[in-house]
Amino acid sequence: MKRLTLLAGALCALLGPFSQAAEKIHVLTTFAPIYCFTKNVAGDAADVQMLLPPDTGPHEYAFRPSDLRKIADADVIVENGFGIETAVDHGLQGGMKQGALRIVASRGIEPLANPPDAGGKPADAEEGPNPHVWLDPELAIKEVENIRDGLMQRDAANAETYLANANAYCTKLRNLDDEIGRATVSMKNKRLLPFHDSFPYFAARYGFEIVGTVEAFPGKEPTARDIKRLRDIIQERHVTALFSEPQYSAKILESLSRDLQLPIVVIDPMETGEPSADFYETVMRKNLQALVKALK
Ligand SMILES: [Zn+2]
Repeated sequence: MKRLTLLAGALCALLGPFSQAAEKIHVLTTFAPIYCFTKNVAGDAADVQMLLPPDTGPHEYAFRPSDLRKIADADVIVENGFGIETAVDHGLQGGMKQGALRIVASRGIEPLANPPDAGGKPADAEEGPNPHVWLDPELAIKEVENIRDGLMQRDAANAETYLANANAYCTKLRNLDDEIGRATVSMKNKRLLPFHDSFPYFAARYGFEIVGTVEAFPGKEPTARDIKRLRDIIQERHVTALFSEPQYSAKILESLSRDLQLPIVVIDPMETGEPSADFYETVMRKNLQALVKALK
């Protein structure tokens, strides 16, 4: 034990004035983009974990009893909000330890309503606002700022680190935003038909038009009438590509693609993914390349 303490002391001296001998706070995040934003703010100053398994998205996530332990252990819980983590929210009721802080990253963002479903029916009011704000880098910056403010409040000893890390990361996000803006500004064909209603914030940011969605939310399969309507939209609006998402089955897209001779292009709304600090930038650039290729 003594040796360990000595070792830790030596390590702190090596790491410089900002490292803390005190135990790091435990920060629990919900899914991949929220993990990524939080990890970039926290750096090595806090211990950051992701609650959802990398292959399960928040729409279909079912709360597990083992999650309660992770929630009870967390000093800070970070979620996107706007109702996408309902399963987790139930577990948070009374499950957080005293003094723990819950950060809702989307706080203060003006939400967009859900788009109409494949049948053209307006979204149910009880579905709530569209939660996919992270797909607009400008709103991602707002989420990073909310996470920064929460961590600075809960762990004041590392406030300077969080501030500096957040500034550096927001610069990267601004560069990413510029890059996407430049690559898409002069595109003639900006009509998107995403698989589910995940891209309205992205579309609003870069001037894309969402002409419809295949499924209003994952798992809500379109009826035969919806499919007929989708085919009409594709033909009337000269949609040139079908967009699938790696998380969800694309059987219906495959049959539309065969019938209408349209390519299927994968764009990733980032609802699943491994926890990593460069996740967001990597996937956004991949999506950009796929869009440019599909729509030119
Ligand atoms: Zn979604």
